[in-house]
Amino acid sequence: MKNVLITGAAGFLGSHLCDKFIEEGFKVIGMDNLITGDLKNIEHLMKLENFEFYHHDVSKFVHVPDDLDYILHFASPASPIDYLKIPIQTLKVGSLGTHNLLGLAKAKGARLLIASTSEVYGDPLVHPQTEDYYGNVNTIGPRGVYDEAKRFQESITMAYHRFHGLETRIVRIFNTYGPRMRLNDGRVIPAFIGQALRGEDLTVFGDGSQTRSFCYVDDQVEGIYRLLMSDYAEPINIGNPYEISILDFAKEIIKLTGTDQKLIFKPLPKDDPMQRQPDISKAKSILSWEPKVEREEGMKLTYQYFKSLSKEELRRSEHKDFTDRNKR
Ligand code: UDP
Repeated sequence: MKNVLITGAAGFLGSHLCDKFIEEGFKVIGMDNLITGDLKNIEHLMKLENFEFYHHDVSKFVHVPDDLDYILHFASPASPIDYLKIPIQTLKVGSLGTHNLLGLAKAKGARLLIASTSEVYGDPLVHPQTEDYYGNVNTIGPRGVYDEAKRFQESITMAYHRFHGLETRIVRIFNTYGPRMRLNDGRVIPAFIGQALRGEDLTVFGDGSQTRSFCYVDDQVEGIYRLLMSDYAEPINIGNPYEISILDFAKEIIKLTGTDQKLIFKPLPKDDPMQRQPDISKAKSILSWEPKVEREEGMKLTYQYFKSLSKEELRRSEHKDFTDRNKR
């Protein structure tokens, strides 16, 4: 049996990756400091013999007694609201955390895949974004703590690959959605669905002409799995190229939820990218991957998940407070 360490295991993407690797017959070692992750996302795995969980912050030295074949580094706050609340941890997990995991991968002879992001392209001047575009990032803006940590993460990963011959993979993840997203993470899908469920108006930022392209989580996980198993060390975009404006998307949500909520317009947050769409030619040719789940179907599944949360969970998720751990 092969062993895989997944950091950020209790998070949205991390928990789905744990499920995938369990399904594929791996022993999965999950790690999370639970600042933005939630044990509820992996509680169904806790009783399994081939699943183990460590409550640990990977910005500090990481020790795992087992042999490791693969490491997936998915620990990081991942929404603009989180970066504002916990900017220093965001920087540390992408930089110090990645350095620790590179060291661990080297010591164990493991292959490391890091979760990078479309944010490395910033507010892109090239559209759609190809992997060879260098990006347009404001280093000192509110998103800079995430964007620059992820850019550093890519650099140090390539340095370990070139200097130490470490086997590494880099996925640039574009907006991804599905069950287990955090209702209060401020991202547009949980925000709109949460508002619809609470009977509030939907808050469109700016005039809603900014675009995004949303990938269903199962497609994202399949792309990541294929990349890990490939022999390609340079960054690859994984996302759904079907682009939509936030205004049209808000209208879709009103249709989906069958509510009669109105749209209200709020100021566009600083450095909010005006457009985002992955060019996935590389993923298609190198990994034979492309997304399969259409937005209508994926959004139905996601809405069902949010609807299935109990009233208490809905209330609790609105108030999750990690400000006391904010200063580290
Ligand atoms: N957005 C919005 N209303 C909300 C939350 C987000 O209009 O209540 C917009 C946000 O300004 C951005 C887009 O939706 O243009 C996607 O935001 P998200 O935070 O999901 O991800 P991003 O792609 O910006 O990192």
